[in-house]
Amino acid sequence: MNRRRRLYEGKAKILYEGPEPGTLIQHFKDDATAFNAKKHDSIEGKGVLNNRISEHIFDRLGSIGIPTHFIKRMNMREQLVKEVEIVPIEVVVRNVAAGSLVKKLGLDEGTQLPRSIIEFYYKSDELDDPMVSEEHITAFGWASPQEIDEMMALALRINDFLSGLFFGIGIRLVDFKIEFGRHFENETMKIILADEISPDCCRLWDIETDNKLDKDRFRQDLGGLIDAYTEVAKRLGILTENPTNEPSGPRLVTSNE
Ligand code: UDP
Repeated sequence: MNRRRRLYEGKAKILYEGPEPGTLIQHFKDDATAFNAKKHDSIEGKGVLNNRISEHIFDRLGSIGIPTHFIKRMNMREQLVKEVEIVPIEVVVRNVAAGSLVKKLGLDEGTQLPRSIIEFYYKSDELDDPMVSEEHITAFGWASPQEIDEMMALALRINDFLSGLFFGIGIRLVDFKIEFGRHFENETMKIILADEISPDCCRLWDIETDNKLDKDRFRQDLGGLIDAYTEVAKRLGILTENPTNEPSGPRLVTSNE
């Protein structure tokens, strides 16, 4: 029945042609991959949770003036987004030592970094997404110096905002990966936030227990990934305890309650 044109299929998402020119539909799959797809599994419900969590975060970022590709959620697994030309660079922001930084520099996992650190990785499956410098990015023309400045400024704003948002719900934002795209409109080009922000691409630790609420549960075979993502969604206020989705406005309290 699906007659939409599939434009791209990645590890966790599919992009379809959108209903209007300049739009795309971003579909969240249940697939989980790690170590450049050497480890692969399907985890039922992950795509639905990531769709909701990413919608919520992009919506909040939009409300503080961060330009994003997000237009609206269409259904449980899909959102309508603006078509962009993806900058082939993954921008990682780190607040606390974890993952590849721990291995690279021999730090203890969980060490607070002296300040937030931005890193760039070139998007290439064949090369395993190598870390690159600004020099590589500009020399090979993957992004201009102005675009790098723009992406770094946005990345730091996103980090500050999301660190606060997660801190408020008892979660430490350890690190995350974001991607940007070039959006062309009326002869002008603007760098905007694209892709997704979900527990698939962030490290999120419970502040009290250090419990991991992100994809490290899959990478490290800890189990409980859906429970962890559900916990993040609940704390963000996306999933209510009220499964019937009845309005939860003020209610009449009677004297014998
Ligand atoms: N990350 C990601 N996609 C990648 C690589 C990293 O979303 O292809 C995220 C990862 O979830 C973490 C952050 O970027 O939140 C930093 O990842 P790191 O460099 O430590 O790599 P990892 O150890 O996760 O491979």
